[in-house]
Amino acid sequence: MDKGFGLSVGAFTPGEKKGAMRLYPAAILTILVPAALICGAYIGRAYLDLLGSDSRIIVDNLAYLLCLAAVLVAYQFNRSRIMMASFGVAIFYWAVQRYLQVSLSQPDAWQGYLAISFALPVLALYLLLLPEKGIWNIYGFVFFLAFILLGLICVQLGPWLPEANAAAAEYYAPRPAQNYVLSLGVTLLVSLVALVGIALLYVRNNEVEAALLGAFLSLYLVLALLHVEHISASMCTAAALCLLWGLIRSSHAMAYRDELTGLPGRRALNEKLNMLGGNFTIAMLDVDHFKRFNDTYGHDVGDEVLKLVASRVRDVGGGGTAYRYGGEEFCIVFPRKTIEDTIEPLERVREQIGDYIMSLRDRNLRPARTREGTRKRGATRVGSDQFSVTISAGIACRSDDHPDTEAVLAAADNKLYQAKKAGRNRVAY
Ligand code: GH3
Ligand code: MG
Ligand code: MG
Repeated sequence: MDKGFGLSVGAFTPGEKKGAMRLYPAAILTILVPAALICGAYIGRAYLDLLGSDSRIIVDNLAYLLCLAAVLVAYQFNRSRIMMASFGVAIFYWAVQRYLQVSLSQPDAWQGYLAISFALPVLALYLLLLPEKGIWNIYGFVFFLAFILLGLICVQLGPWLPEANAAAAEYYAPRPAQNYVLSLGVTLLVSLVALVGIALLYVRNNEVEAALLGAFLSLYLVLALLHVEHISASMCTAAALCLLWGLIRSSHAMAYRDELTGLPGRRALNEKLNMLGGNFTIAMLDVDHFKRFNDTYGHDVGDEVLKLVASRVRDVGGGGTAYRYGGEEFCIVFPRKTIEDTIEPLERVREQIGDYIMSLRDRNLRPARTREGTRKRGATRVGSDQFSVTISAGIACRSDDHPDTEAVLAAADNKLYQAKKAGRNRVAY
């Protein structure tokens, strides 16, 4: 997802006026929720002793139940990475229960610990880097097979490494610090994977990454704080909850967010309009001569321009929320604002988009014959390979003439039409 107008996107290099990259609230939220789940589970762990034996049976098996639920939901939503992660969490929990409930000085427990602690960061890295290709296809099958194979290799390799090599043995010695069981080697591996996860989360701004990262960190805590009571039951439950949360969030995004621009889409707009009460103002925005632009540069380049325009429209400010209305049209809703309140932010967006110079990076995307390109081109041509696009906007607010949202939308659309007729690259109200 594009995060700023100054970013190099697709076929373009940014022109002048670079904008700073910033984390959006959605991206921050995606980190906060898994963090809250982990903290909640850690605090809740201390109270497990207060439960009766029947409740304890449920709590001890809750991680399995939630993993099963996550597998079923992941299957329904065709999310292979979360599906594999859910299997992974269940197997991890089983392995910790099976092998690590005794002192690590026992050979079996020690071997098991080495195997599990080595497999965890490697498999987490694999899932973080994997592209999402769905479940029932050749990719899904191969990725799942590779996940199992990688797991088996790690389980063999983990205990073998310190046996084969004295330096590795030192590196994999547990308890490097008091009350911290995990070896230095695995701690470094975990830190590396966490950094990769955070970078991916920042670049992709995707809740699946946040869920995988949250689940990974939960399981890391099990190994690092193995001596703490009830740590595995609570943290594996947190891991499964992170995965379920990621599934719910990503399915919500699928329904409500426009995939190309990352803006909320038509469904989200309709919900917002239904909830509006009192006074509000709506602006309809439309890219000028965009059909010609597509004819000249092709649909792919048009898509890149739409992303750039959307990133500016999203930052409109003035209390407005931007939606992709459809095609090259955007709708901005300003609750509790008058037309006068919205003119300045909208004029600013219009100017910013018009002033933004884009350059074609890929020579293959340029029009074959320059003269024809100039004639057909919808955009303003700035330099030999540079151009900019403009937008027009129409504003309307709720009033006696336009008492409901449909009437305000129609009035804003009407004003947009007037802006187009008056010569485009302007705001009409
Ligand atoms: P006007 O200034 O009057 O708005 O002219 P226009 O050419 O922008 O208007 P029109 O509504 O005739 O054309 C809209 C064009 O926008 C049609 C289509 O080629 C393009 N378009 C719509 N959705 C997308 C999209 O998702 N990606 C790309 N690349 N182009 C799109
Ligand atoms: Mg249009
Ligand atoms: Mg248009």
